[in-house]
Amino acid sequence: MIVAILALQGAFAEHAAALDRLGTDHFEIRRPQDLDRPFDALILPGGESTVMGKLLRDLDLFEPLRVRMAEGLPVFGTCAGLILLARTVEGGTPCFAAMDIAVKRNAYGRQLGSFYTQAPVLGIGTLPMTFIRAPYIASAGPAVQVLAQVDGHIVAARQGNLLATSFHPELSADLSVHRYFLALAGRAQ
Ligand code: GLN
Repeated sequence: MIVAILALQGAFAEHAAALDRLGTDHFEIRRPQDLDRPFDALILPGGESTVMGKLLRDLDLFEPLRVRMAEGLPVFGTCAGLILLARTVEGGTPCFAAMDIAVKRNAYGRQLGSFYTQAPVLGIGTLPMTFIRAPYIASAGPAVQVLAQVDGHIVAARQGNLLATSFHPELSADLSVHRYFLALAGRAQ
Protein backbone atom coordinates (compact mmCIF):
# COMPACT_ATOMS: atom_id res chain seq x y z
CA MET A 1 0.00 0.00 0.00
CA ILE A 2 1.40 3.37 -1.06
CA VAL A 3 -0.40 6.52 0.05
CA ALA A 4 0.01 9.87 -1.70
CA ILE A 5 -0.45 12.98 0.43
CA LEU A 6 -1.41 16.28 -1.19
CA ALA A 7 1.32 18.62 0.07
CA LEU A 8 0.51 22.03 -1.39
CA GLN A 9 -0.32 23.65 1.92
CA GLY A 10 -1.57 22.82 5.41
CA ALA A 11 -1.14 19.85 7.75
CA PHE A 12 0.36 17.28 5.36
CA ALA A 13 3.46 16.53 7.48
CA GLU A 14 1.28 15.34 10.36
CA HIS A 15 -0.39 12.78 8.09
CA ALA A 16 3.04 11.63 6.92
CA ALA A 17 4.06 11.16 10.56
CA ALA A 18 0.90 9.13 11.28
CA LEU A 19 1.62 6.87 8.29
CA ASP A 20 5.24 6.50 9.42
CA ARG A 21 4.02 5.29 12.78
CA LEU A 22 1.82 2.75 10.99
CA GLY A 23 4.73 1.64 8.78
CA THR A 24 2.88 2.62 5.58
CA ASP A 25 4.75 3.88 2.51
CA HIS A 26 3.84 7.41 1.45
CA PHE A 27 5.01 10.31 -0.67
CA GLU A 28 3.97 13.91 -1.27
CA ILE A 29 2.16 15.33 -4.27
CA ARG A 30 3.18 18.85 -5.25
CA ARG A 31 3.30 18.84 -9.05
CA PRO A 32 1.85 16.81 -11.94
CA GLN A 33 5.01 14.66 -12.34
CA ASP A 34 4.42 13.31 -8.83
CA LEU A 35 1.29 11.60 -10.16
CA ASP A 36 3.47 9.39 -12.36
CA ARG A 37 4.48 7.43 -9.27
CA PRO A 38 2.13 4.57 -8.41
CA PHE A 39 -0.15 5.08 -5.44
CA ASP A 40 -3.17 3.26 -4.04
CA ALA A 41 -4.79 5.96 -1.93
CA LEU A 42 -4.72 9.71 -1.38
CA ILE A 43 -4.91 11.96 1.68
CA LEU A 44 -6.23 15.54 1.36
CA PRO A 45 -5.02 17.32 4.52
CA GLY A 46 -6.39 20.18 6.58
CA GLY A 47 -5.38 23.72 5.76
CA GLU A 48 -7.27 26.31 3.78
CA SER A 49 -9.64 24.79 1.23
CA THR A 50 -9.92 27.88 -1.01
CA VAL A 51 -6.11 28.13 -1.27
CA MET A 52 -5.72 24.42 -1.92
CA GLY A 53 -8.49 24.49 -4.53
CA LYS A 54 -6.78 27.36 -6.37
CA LEU A 55 -3.33 25.71 -6.20
CA LEU A 56 -4.77 22.39 -7.44
CA ARG A 57 -5.97 24.15 -10.59
CA ASP A 58 -2.96 26.46 -11.03
CA LEU A 59 -0.58 23.49 -10.75
CA ASP A 60 -2.62 21.27 -13.11
CA LEU A 61 -3.31 18.71 -10.41
CA PHE A 62 -7.08 19.13 -10.25
CA GLU A 63 -8.15 17.26 -13.39
CA PRO A 64 -5.88 14.18 -13.07
CA LEU A 65 -6.86 13.77 -9.42
CA ARG A 66 -10.57 14.27 -10.24
CA VAL A 67 -10.29 11.48 -12.83
CA ARG A 68 -8.53 9.13 -10.39
CA MET A 69 -11.30 9.75 -7.83
CA ALA A 70 -13.99 9.06 -10.44
CA GLU A 71 -12.18 5.76 -11.14
CA GLY A 72 -12.52 4.80 -7.46
CA LEU A 73 -9.27 5.98 -5.84
CA PRO A 74 -9.64 5.76 -2.04
CA VAL A 75 -9.39 9.27 -0.56
CA PHE A 76 -9.28 10.47 3.04
CA GLY A 77 -10.05 14.17 3.50
CA THR A 78 -9.55 15.91 6.83
CA CYS A 79 -11.10 19.32 7.55
CA ALA A 80 -10.17 21.42 4.47
CA GLY A 81 -9.71 18.06 2.69
CA LEU A 82 -13.33 17.22 3.54
CA ILE A 83 -14.39 20.52 1.95
CA LEU A 84 -12.41 19.64 -1.22
CA LEU A 85 -14.38 16.37 -1.49
CA ALA A 86 -17.85 17.88 -0.98
CA ARG A 87 -20.42 18.13 -3.76
CA THR A 88 -21.83 21.33 -2.23
CA VAL A 89 -20.03 24.02 -0.22
CA GLU A 90 -22.46 26.42 1.43
CA GLY A 91 -21.61 29.92 0.25
CA GLY A 92 -18.61 28.65 -1.70
CA THR A 93 -17.42 26.75 -4.75
CA PRO A 94 -17.04 22.96 -4.72
CA CYS A 95 -13.69 21.47 -5.73
CA PHE A 96 -13.70 17.73 -6.55
CA ALA A 97 -17.44 17.34 -5.77
CA ALA A 98 -16.77 13.60 -5.35
CA MET A 99 -18.79 13.00 -2.19
CA ASP A 100 -22.53 13.58 -1.87
CA ILE A 101 -22.31 15.92 1.11
CA ALA A 102 -23.08 19.59 1.67
CA VAL A 103 -20.58 21.27 3.98
CA LYS A 104 -20.63 24.41 6.02
CA ARG A 105 -17.17 25.98 6.31
CA ASN A 106 -15.92 27.55 9.53
CA ALA A 107 -19.12 26.18 10.97
CA TYR A 108 -18.28 26.64 14.62
CA GLY A 109 -17.88 30.42 14.52
CA ARG A 110 -15.06 32.59 15.74
CA GLN A 111 -15.49 31.99 19.46
CA LEU A 112 -15.45 28.24 19.10
CA GLY A 113 -13.07 28.18 16.14
CA SER A 114 -10.97 25.49 17.78
CA PHE A 115 -12.02 22.93 20.34
CA TYR A 116 -11.38 19.42 21.54
CA THR A 117 -13.92 16.74 22.35
CA GLN A 118 -14.43 13.00 22.28
CA ALA A 119 -17.21 11.17 20.46
CA PRO A 120 -17.99 7.70 19.15
CA VAL A 121 -17.15 6.88 15.54
CA LEU A 122 -19.09 4.03 13.94
CA GLY A 123 -16.95 0.94 13.52
CA ILE A 124 -13.97 2.49 15.35
CA GLY A 125 -14.92 3.52 18.91
CA THR A 126 -14.76 6.70 20.96
CA LEU A 127 -12.03 8.97 19.68
CA PRO A 128 -10.28 12.21 20.61
CA MET A 129 -11.29 14.93 18.14
CA THR A 130 -9.49 18.22 17.53
CA PHE A 131 -11.45 20.79 15.54
CA ILE A 132 -9.66 23.82 14.03
CA ARG A 133 -11.92 26.32 12.28
CA ALA A 134 -13.68 23.20 11.17
CA PRO A 135 -16.50 22.55 8.76
CA TYR A 136 -19.36 20.21 9.49
CA ILE A 137 -21.47 18.18 7.10
CA ALA A 138 -24.84 19.92 6.94
CA SER A 139 -26.49 17.20 4.89
CA ALA A 140 -25.56 13.92 3.26
CA GLY A 141 -27.06 11.93 0.38
CA PRO A 142 -28.32 8.34 0.60
CA ALA A 143 -25.00 6.79 -0.47
CA VAL A 144 -23.22 8.41 2.47
CA GLN A 145 -22.75 6.54 5.73
CA VAL A 146 -22.63 8.85 8.73
CA LEU A 147 -19.81 7.74 11.04
CA ALA A 148 -19.88 10.38 13.78
CA GLN A 149 -21.83 13.36 15.02
CA VAL A 150 -20.96 16.06 17.54
CA ASP A 151 -23.70 18.33 18.89
CA GLY A 152 -26.10 17.02 16.26
CA HIS A 153 -23.80 17.76 13.33
CA ILE A 154 -22.07 15.18 11.13
CA VAL A 155 -18.29 15.27 11.60
CA ALA A 156 -17.24 11.99 9.95
CA ALA A 157 -18.69 10.17 6.96
CA ARG A 158 -17.89 7.61 4.34
CA GLN A 159 -19.12 7.07 0.80
CA GLY A 160 -17.63 4.00 -0.87
CA ASN A 161 -13.87 4.60 -1.01
CA LEU A 162 -14.14 8.17 0.29
CA LEU A 163 -13.66 8.99 3.97
CA ALA A 164 -13.99 12.48 5.43
CA THR A 165 -13.60 13.96 8.90
CA SER A 166 -14.19 17.53 10.12
CA PHE A 167 -11.64 16.94 12.85
CA HIS A 168 -7.90 16.20 12.66
CA PRO A 169 -7.01 12.58 13.54
CA GLU A 170 -3.43 13.31 12.42
CA LEU A 171 -3.03 15.71 15.36
CA SER A 172 -3.79 13.06 17.96
CA ALA A 173 -1.77 10.06 19.09
CA ASP A 174 -4.69 7.81 18.18
CA LEU A 175 -4.05 6.16 14.82
CA SER A 176 -7.35 4.36 14.47
CA VAL A 177 -8.90 6.61 11.79
CA HIS A 178 -5.79 6.21 9.63
CA ARG A 179 -5.93 2.47 10.27
CA TYR A 180 -9.61 2.46 9.25
CA PHE A 181 -8.73 4.31 6.02
CA LEU A 182 -5.88 1.94 5.18
CA ALA A 183 -8.21 -1.05 5.69
CA LEU A 184 -10.78 0.55 3.40
CA ALA A 185 -8.11 1.33 0.81
CA GLY A 186 -6.71 -2.21 1.08
CA ARG A 187 -10.12 -3.70 0.28
CA ALA A 188 -10.33 -1.44 -2.80
CA GLN A 189 -7.14 -2.86 -4.33
N1 GLN B 1 -11.43 26.67 7.69
C1 GLN B 1 -10.63 25.92 6.75
C2 GLN B 1 -11.26 25.95 5.35
O1 GLN B 1 -12.34 26.41 5.20
C3 GLN B 1 -10.46 24.50 7.20
C4 GLN B 1 -9.68 24.45 8.48
C5 GLN B 1 -8.79 23.26 8.62
O2 GLN B 1 -8.51 22.52 7.67
N2 GLN B 1 -8.24 23.11 9.80
O3 GLN B 1 -10.65 25.50 4.43
